[in-house]
Amino acid sequence: QLADPTVDVITLLTSPLHAPSASSLPLPVALYGAGRANSAGRDLHIAAHRLPMIQTLAERGRVGLPPVSEASVDQAREAMHALHASQPAWNATPLAHRCAVLQRAADALEARMDEFVALLVHEGGKTLADGVSEVREAVDFCRYYAEQAATKLAPQTLPGPTGESNELRLHGRGAFVCISPWNFPLAIFAGQVVAALVAGNTVAAKPAEQTPAVAMAFVHLLIQAGLPENAIALLHGPGETVGAALVAHTRCAGVCFTGSTQVARAINRVLAERDGAIVPLIAETGGLNAMVVDSSALPEQVVDAVVQSAFRSAGQRCSALRLLCVHDEVADKLLEMLSGAMAELVSGDPRDAAHSWAVDIGPVIDAEAHANLARHVRRLDESARLIARSALPDALAATHIAPVAYEIADIGAMREEVFGPVLHVLRWRGDPDALVAQINGLGYGLTLGVHTRIDGRALRIAEQARVGNVYINRNMIGAVVGVQPFGGEGLSGTGPKAGGPHYLYRFCGEQTVTINT
Ligand code: GLU
Repeated sequence: QLADPTVDVITLLTSPLHAPSASSLPLPVALYGAGRANSAGRDLHIAAHRLPMIQTLAERGRVGLPPVSEASVDQAREAMHALHASQPAWNATPLAHRCAVLQRAADALEARMDEFVALLVHEGGKTLADGVSEVREAVDFCRYYAEQAATKLAPQTLPGPTGESNELRLHGRGAFVCISPWNFPLAIFAGQVVAALVAGNTVAAKPAEQTPAVAMAFVHLLIQAGLPENAIALLHGPGETVGAALVAHTRCAGVCFTGSTQVARAINRVLAERDGAIVPLIAETGGLNAMVVDSSALPEQVVDAVVQSAFRSAGQRCSALRLLCVHDEVADKLLEMLSGAMAELVSGDPRDAAHSWAVDIGPVIDAEAHANLARHVRRLDESARLIARSALPDALAATHIAPVAYEIADIGAMREEVFGPVLHVLRWRGDPDALVAQINGLGYGLTLGVHTRIDGRALRIAEQARVGNVYINRNMIGAVVGVQPFGGEGLSGTGPKAGGPHYLYRFCGEQTVTINT
């Protein structure tokens, strides 16, 4: 336990001696198969110099990150065979042992919080506040799934007629493929992987290309916490090649994916067409999330919730607010207050240690994301009314998108998820039911915010909305593991909800054993 984690994080960020680097992080630099993996004892560990680098050493070294090697399609396939072969042994380890690995991993994450926060800041461009929350979320996932598994995955004796005993047993399905995004490179990566593992699966983990070091550090930590090396393979590389090879493999026993709706569809197609078992896809995808504000809402509370929901994490959360629907009677006043609040937002580089804590809005993840967002903002400049744009220093123009809000005339302008700090505002009048029907019509179903002092109305909207998470009179991001199980429906995903009581079951096979006694 750190007496004051804040101080240690600052030290890490300010001192070159402690900045994460290939030498200071205890990482196998060429980690791709996290170890010697298959039953024939084949070594999956490939020397770094034989593999193409995802980013050049110089690029990663500049920000103090270790180099990362990319897996080939053949290596991905080999890993799947190896993981398939090693799964029965991992599945046969006592449930209590698997749970203990997760609890030890949680302990280690807490003890090394400063190091992980520094990695999230350096590699993921996270603000310090977001980095700290993310490590906590990863700890919560480990502890929650360990506790859930201990009770929910234990064999159950079922009532039956005299002379017969019946037991329901749960087991890992095989080699599970976990594909995770860059926006929560620790929490979502860890959540997927530990859920699959504790259920008795071995795991092929493919983290986002943008954030490999965070994933490497976590896999290393899991192994130190007692996970057998052959229970996991970490495969870096593009989704189009490495991810596709894992999913298409006949030994793939299930896929857990968080990312875009489009890619989830592509995975579904591959799973449908390949040879081998019919396996589950757990997909958590995008959102076109709205907030409904009526004329009874508390303006200060609304503005605070909007700023947090639309702009925190530079809008790079799938839960983030994209469409603010404000009742016409209060819209002018609210939008003026919102402009005032947006003027206070500080965009900056959280890697710049001197100012880390002062930064509200960090960079967007990479140049491609920046170009897409900038294009969308240019389109809005032509087609919508600008409400407010936060200040952005010139030096950050190439890496950051200034938080911005536009008024649109019609909900039809909302087509697909825009993954950044860009808020669309729509005035509404009349029947809230009709508005909710329009929001449902967008086809996504992740989060919805409601601000009203009319209790019956809030609950009616919640009932009618086809979304996974409804937040009333507060912000609509930062679902807490075990408290606000997270995940949507429709174009937003398949469920089950991450951090909820039904999540682990989807990673399991079930067997009923009936004995005539
Ligand atoms: N669970 C996160 C939240 O509630 C969002 C996860 C994501 O963006 O994928 O804000």
